[in-house]
Amino acid sequence: MLTPDQKAECQRRLLEWYGRAKRDLPWRDVDDPYAVLVSEMMLQQTQVATAIPYFERFMATFPTISDLASAHADDVLHCWQGLGYYSRARNLHRAAIRAVDGFDGELPDTVEELRSLPGVGPYTAGAVASIAFRKPAPVVDANVARVLARVFAVPGDPKSGPTSRALWAHAGELLSHAAPHDWNSALMELGALVCRTPTPACDECPIADLCTARARGETERYPELPRRTPPIAVEDVAVLVERGSRVALVRRPEGGRWAGLWELPRVRREDGEALADAALRAPMQVCGLSVRDARPFGAIRHTITRYRVRLYGFRATSQGGDPIPVTCADAQWVDVDAIGSYALASPQRKLLRLAWTAEDALPLR
Ligand code: SF4
Repeated sequence: MLTPDQKAECQRRLLEWYGRAKRDLPWRDVDDPYAVLVSEMMLQQTQVATAIPYFERFMATFPTISDLASAHADDVLHCWQGLGYYSRARNLHRAAIRAVDGFDGELPDTVEELRSLPGVGPYTAGAVASIAFRKPAPVVDANVARVLARVFAVPGDPKSGPTSRALWAHAGELLSHAAPHDWNSALMELGALVCRTPTPACDECPIADLCTARARGETERYPELPRRTPPIAVEDVAVLVERGSRVALVRRPEGGRWAGLWELPRVRREDGEALADAALRAPMQVCGLSVRDARPFGAIRHTITRYRVRLYGFRATSQGGDPIPVTCADAQWVDVDAIGSYALASPQRKLLRLAWTAEDALPLR
């Protein structure tokens, strides 16, 4: 706990540091709550440098919350394509619709009302309320949690209940009510630029003499993150089923991973199953297509949540008939030239590029 004088000194120094050290980011100092919401949704699971071009493209495509609310969900997913964690895009779209329907086309300005929007949790609500509306709302994201865990030597996993509550309490106590917008941004910026993981640059820190972890020589102890579990290796097979100049695309079902996105029919290889057999099984199981002559064209690797996936690609020829939704939500023949207008997850786009070039292929086993 800091004394009132220490708290005032902490705020003064950190705000002064932020004024000269903050990065120039496209969503910084914009006076548009919608833009703040878009940026915060993107930054939930994406690094700043990666998010910048996506943010600019998204705002150019959907400049206002009304534009987003009236867009088709497929167009929103397509604009988000490549950024991953697509539930964020679906929630952002639903939040825009809710704002138009329930708040006269404006984002609400209180944490409570913001939290009623889909996908808006305590962090995002606090960020929008403070940054866009200058409301005295604290925020705790990963950067802020790291700073506060070190300054106050808070033990435990920041995501666990007691530790999370302690960090939010510290954030609330330390909050500058005079400048909540800059204060929250400054804390986040300190975590991103100086109080980094695993080793903070304490010599550059404007509040180093107020930091408990530094005084104890324990900066790398905090925050106490849980040990990562090793990824699980799995193998999937996806099949490019061709009929003339068209290929079969299937839409992933609602509620699961990559919900609403399009892909080649894809299955998980079963224990002991030959890759070629999995390739014959995939189109039938997913979209009722019988195929012949399944031929491998390569494989890629990608990681999704706790899975390390080796994704094998096959080409096959349709025996006839049209694809139908069996385990997928939709299935279509799509002209090769039109595939670019469909929202596909990154591994699928990478696999399709491989299919057309057959370069960079990993050897098939
Ligand atoms: S002194 Fe070091 S550990 Fe403490 S807040 Fe500053 S950068 Fe982080």
